[in-house]
Amino acid sequence: MTAKRIIWLQIALLLIFVIGCQKVPITGRTQFSLVPESELLQMSFSQYDELIKDSKLSTDQRQVNMVRNVGKRIATSADLFMAENNMTQQRKSYRWDFNLIQEDSTINAFCMPGGKVAFYTGIMPICKDETGVAVVMGHEVAHALANHGGERLSQGLAEQLGGLALQAALQNKSEQTQMLALAAFGVGAQIGILLPYSRLHESEADRIGLILMARAGYDPNAAVTFWQRMADTGGARPPEFLSTHPASDTRIENIKQHLPEAMRYYTK
Ligand SMILES: [Zn+2]
Repeated sequence: MTAKRIIWLQIALLLIFVIGCQKVPITGRTQFSLVPESELLQMSFSQYDELIKDSKLSTDQRQVNMVRNVGKRIATSADLFMAENNMTQQRKSYRWDFNLIQEDSTINAFCMPGGKVAFYTGIMPICKDETGVAVVMGHEVAHALANHGGERLSQGLAEQLGGLALQAALQNKSEQTQMLALAAFGVGAQIGILLPYSRLHESEADRIGLILMARAGYDPNAAVTFWQRMADTGGARPPEFLSTHPASDTRIENIKQHLPEAMRYYTK
């Protein structure tokens, strides 16, 4: 390779790295995401539509309304959060949707990129009440705001295919890419891939989630009792939510540490 070519190659690599790096709001961590937001949203919106179309939705109007009401309030918090953190482009792309899927055996909930939220009826008894729903909603929306799905998909694709094949993988949107995207967005049981969030992603989502719920008028202290209830449901087969959201021994301690920060945003 000529010297000139090597320089060009270095510039290209540097560009990929610069374009791929962005900062997580609040925590300030630099993250590496190779998948452009437009691609992520396209996948998220079409996969969500398909998932909802193929699912049986709950007809329990009281619970459906609860999920929708909490969702709207958390969405307002998230919108403020994006406005304050210069996330102008991301803010414009959100198309909020809140659905409750009738599946009592599935203890799970997720928010896909761009604000596509689903709760399964199985998680409702552990949420217990509206504030419990707000704990889960805040946490899941926080994963989306911090682009954890995009980061996981980038890592997954890079591991499976290597950097060069990434472009092709996104263009073709093979079955494998689609499955990986769903798992990266926190949808698990339906596709048989459970991809746990890392401890880092979990603590970021806890911290940002507490702020979102506090701002929506829900007491963030409820997160402590929610996670205690979730941990108690363990049993022989841990619920999907615990498989994808590993609860370390220190999780509740970390949440307690972030409560004073969240309480500054809380008004009843
Ligand atoms: Zn999580």
